[in-house]
Amino acid sequence: MRVYNFSAGPSTLPQAVLEQVQAELLDFQGTGMSVMEDSHRGKRFITLAQEITENLRALLQIPDNYRILFLQGGAFGQFSAIPMNLAAPGQTVDYVNTGQWSKKAISEAQKYAKVKIVADEGKSNYCTVPLADSLISSPGSAYFHYTPNETIGGVEFPYIPKVEAPLVGDFSSTILSRPIPVSQYGVIYAGTQKNMAPSGMAVVIIHEDLLGKARETTPAIWNYDLMNENDSMLNTPPTFTWYVLGLVVEWLIKQGGLKQIALRNEAKAKALYDAIDTSDFYHNPVAKNCRSWMNVPFTLSDPQLDSEFLAGAKAAGLVNLEGHRSVGGMRASIYNAMEMAGVQALIEYMAEFERTRG
Ligand SMILES: *Cc1c(COP(=O)(O)O)cnc(C)c1O
Repeated sequence: MRVYNFSAGPSTLPQAVLEQVQAELLDFQGTGMSVMEDSHRGKRFITLAQEITENLRALLQIPDNYRILFLQGGAFGQFSAIPMNLAAPGQTVDYVNTGQWSKKAISEAQKYAKVKIVADEGKSNYCTVPLADSLISSPGSAYFHYTPNETIGGVEFPYIPKVEAPLVGDFSSTILSRPIPVSQYGVIYAGTQKNMAPSGMAVVIIHEDLLGKARETTPAIWNYDLMNENDSMLNTPPTFTWYVLGLVVEWLIKQGGLKQIALRNEAKAKALYDAIDTSDFYHNPVAKNCRSWMNVPFTLSDPQLDSEFLAGAKAAGLVNLEGHRSVGGMRASIYNAMEMAGVQALIEYMAEFERTRG
């Protein structure tokens, strides 16, 4: 029996995609082999990669003057690649700190550039985002980095910062959850394993004017210019992840595209937050204007009941609900592939648990 999997990442994939992978596993397009056994230098894989890139460009409406790169090392690798590719040594770079992923991005960037923390939401225990007006890039700043969705804290920006420096967003846990006005960004990047594909890659969408600035010590596999010139195949890419990403993109197009997906995601999140807010037993600490559509952390009024809650959920086919090890409590990640039926099943389980144990 397939469960409802609320994992933050790697996370649930659409069942239709998994079934297609299964159907093609022994014989991909008449080759008599799986896609992951085929050469990435062959015409078939090169064509496949081009199609995936075009479909992603269409789905996200990425303008022609942006390049799409498929890199290894996940989003974490990009924490280093961004300053190495965009900033000169010692140059100022701006960061907003809204929680745990911002902090990790900041501590990597500090190795390569002069980080200015423009705003720090630590004063609210990372349950808020800064006021839009308060975000201003520093003079001479190479870029302005923020985390549109904090996967652990469940905080999502309800607006796009308007700053002079090129805007860089770590979209790991929110990419493809709704339309993004790409032209407002210099760089959009995301690890694949949350809302796009299995783990193994990061997608980087970069304005072409930002290419060609990498410092000489940048590793070749993270040099945006080199990877762009080599169609992200300077070395062997994770071909299986790339292929599954292509199937997920096709699935999203079939669902009606990102506007349609956004409506669904908004409805799923609203149902779950309403259930939490109308109960005295469950609690979400995040300010209402910036609650994440994708990651919903919540606590029980009695933490001693946490393990019983999780065990009962698991028995009901609702898995991976434990909160991040750094914060405890619960977290339900409800990415694109989580159906409303899964959210409803969770809400019903929560109500029943509160009725009998609360
Ligand atoms: C998961 C995550 C990362 C790290 O991604 P990896 O692919 O594991 O390197 C970075 N930023 C955010 C916002 C994330 O959710």
